[in-house]
Amino acid sequence: MNRRLQGIGMTSRRTRERMIGRIRELGVKNQSVLDVMLETPRHIFVEEAFASRAYEDMPLPIGFSQTISQPYIVARMTELLLESGPRDKVLEVGTGSGYQTAVLARLCKKVYSVERIYPLQQRARRCLQDLHLRNVLMKHSDGGWGWEDYAPYDGILVTCAPADLPQALLEQLAPGGVLVIPVGDGRNQMLQRIVRTDSGYEIEDIEPVVFVPLLGGVA
Ligand code: SAH
Repeated sequence: MNRRLQGIGMTSRRTRERMIGRIRELGVKNQSVLDVMLETPRHIFVEEAFASRAYEDMPLPIGFSQTISQPYIVARMTELLLESGPRDKVLEVGTGSGYQTAVLARLCKKVYSVERIYPLQQRARRCLQDLHLRNVLMKHSDGGWGWEDYAPYDGILVTCAPADLPQALLEQLAPGGVLVIPVGDGRNQMLQRIVRTDSGYEIEDIEPVVFVPLLGGVA
């Protein structure tokens, strides 16, 4: 068995159960999201030095000044994305470690994920392969422009914060589609949910959050 997968034993499951309990306490109710997070080994997505802390409810460094998102935030954003029904075709901006990607892949038919830092993308790709998740397509690119080739999407989830809502992402949302995105500068960010209606967009503020910034270009 792959060495990084060996930790998926009793210990990890027990610590994962604790993590899920905490996420539930914080108000996440969607049982499918909680079930998938219980089954997804977060420790393979973090650097080995942090593996023992992988089930604490906090972001952790993944290199290149980036972080794997806090588990509560992953759960909350996924719940918001799925609240008005399942999403078949989802675009993710900011693959990072690939953990959120794995959660989405187990809940949606097809996931398109864009990351601007090539080594992170490669590492995430290996993790998803280890978990035999084959319904994910990845692109090394600036996701602020979305991924036009496969648009429109019935869900878009962004895990880095632009200062303003990117026009391209709004345009690549199908009617009835849902965009979950942190928007704002520095530490002054708001998680928003945007629904595309027949006549325009409905924007709802969810809660203050702290994400790494959405940066232009590739690295
Ligand atoms: N969901 C990821 C979050 C990683 S942090 C996880 O839990 O691991 C956010 C990621 O967004 C970083 O990997 C960063 O490189 C990426 N990012 C920032 N700006 C981007 C852009 N314009 N296009 C694509 N990815 C971007």
